[in-house]
Amino acid sequence: MTGTFEGGCSCGAVRFRLTSPPMFTHCCHCLDCQKQTGGAFAINALIETSRIEMLAGGDSIQVVDMPSPSGRGHEIHRCPKCEVALWSDYGKRGYLRFVRVSTLDKPHAIEPDAHIFTRSKVPWVRLPENARAFEIFYDMKQEWPAASMARREAASKGG
Ligand SMILES: [Zn+2]
Ligand SMILES: [Zn+2]
Repeated sequence: MTGTFEGGCSCGAVRFRLTSPPMFTHCCHCLDCQKQTGGAFAINALIETSRIEMLAGGDSIQVVDMPSPSGRGHEIHRCPKCEVALWSDYGKRGYLRFVRVSTLDKPHAIEPDAHIFTRSKVPWVRLPENARAFEIFYDMKQEWPAASMARREAASKGG
């Protein structure tokens, strides 16, 4: 998977470009994602904040604090006009974004690497045979490619 990925909100006020493929992509079946998106799951591409290039509306993004069962905090960043969710900052790390893959102009260009929180998956949604699926979460060191682990490590140190 190469190239860049452009995306934006529904009204067009916010436009962005991912300057590389993400490190890893989750399809999250947790009940919070279902409630917050109105769908059966959320597809979140994990990428360094520095690899999101803002093309329009970058200064006006609305940050909404969400309830966080883990206690580590969860912000959703939205278009100030149409209020579509662009990405989340789970854990308020700052350097890491969980981009809503559905906001990309080619929303099916990125496939999930893992399905998480399948314990609360909508019962009539069936996953592909070969999908990597986890009742809750997984061991990052086992599932993430080494290159992605290195990227995440570098981002956490401001690299
Ligand atoms: Zn908008
Ligand atoms: Zn979720």
